[in-house]
Order: sequence, then C-alpha cells, then structure tokens
Amino acid sequence: MNPCVFLDRDGVINKDNPNYTYKVEGFEILPGVIDALKLLKANNFSLVVVTNQSGIAQGLYTQQQMQECHRYFQEQSGHVIDHFYFSPYHPSVTDSLLRKPGTLMFEKAIARFNVDIAKSWMIGDRGRDIIPARKLGIKTIQIGDEIEEKDKADFQSANLLEAANIILSGI
Ligand SMILES: [Mg+2]
Repeated sequence: MNPCVFLDRDGVINKDNPNYTYKVEGFEILPGVIDALKLLKANNFSLVVVTNQSGIAQGLYTQQQMQECHRYFQEQSGHVIDHFYFSPYHPSVTDSLLRKPGTLMFEKAIARFNVDIAKSWMIGDRGRDIIPARKLGIKTIQIGDEIEEKDKADFQSANLLEAANIILSGI
C-alpha cells in the first residue's frame, strides 16, 4: 500500500482565477509548488490531482484545453503528478459523485494506486476539497483561510511548500 497526497488544482498548484483557468498562457504555477511536489515524491508519496472542472459541462472550455494545461504542468514539473482526475460535471447540466464534495475521484485513485488511507493527505483551498477527504479518513490541510469554520481542515498552511513540510514532519 502506498501513501498518497491528493491535491486540489486551482488555488493549490496554480493561481485560482474566478473566470476559470483553461489556457496554458493563464496557467500560473504558484511559487514553491514544484519543489514541494518533488519533495513529497522523494518521500514516496503518490501524487494525484483531484479537480472539479465544471467549465467543461458549462461549455466554457474544452477537455482538450484542460489537458493542454495538465501537459504543460507535467513538462514544467518533470512529470511529478501520477494522475490528474477531473470532474467535468456541473449540477446545472448533470450531477455526479465525481464532482467534489463527492468522493468518487478519490475512490478511483485509492483503487488504482493502492492507497494507504491512514498515511495519506488531501490539500485543498475549499470546503468541498476537505469534506470528501474527511469522509474517507484522509488527513487534510487547507491552503489559505477561505474555508468556513464547519469545514476547516486538520491543518492550515500558506502555500504548498509549507503543507509539504507539515506532512513530512509527521513521518
Ligand atoms: Mg481550489
């Protein structure tokens, strides 16, 4: 069984954009992110992105545009991410357990990467990132302070590098 760090995408690995991020030109990798991921990888964590991309269901951008952003990130980071799970759904079009706070993206990764839940973490910046992880018994870290009190994570950090250090301080 493998320890895994689940990662939200927008606001965690790239700068969040209220108008959606779907062009490579607008895909701004946050400071320290690549170093943080390499550090976790070097400590044997699988790295899996779980991201809601409802702009696809809403017709705002295509799956191909999203994939180009993911390809770009992989090139920049030396292919550090093991897999990007994405949910293209939006409740106004089709609801799905794949959409966070649903747990299905996590469950797929747990099966595929033989994840040891007790040694795994979720890092996100919204309540909907924290809720499914908590339901599955995965420890949580929130980036920033945008999360409502009731959904607060186990730990809080300013950025991904700080989050990686929280994780590594416990092993
Ligand atoms: Mg986010």
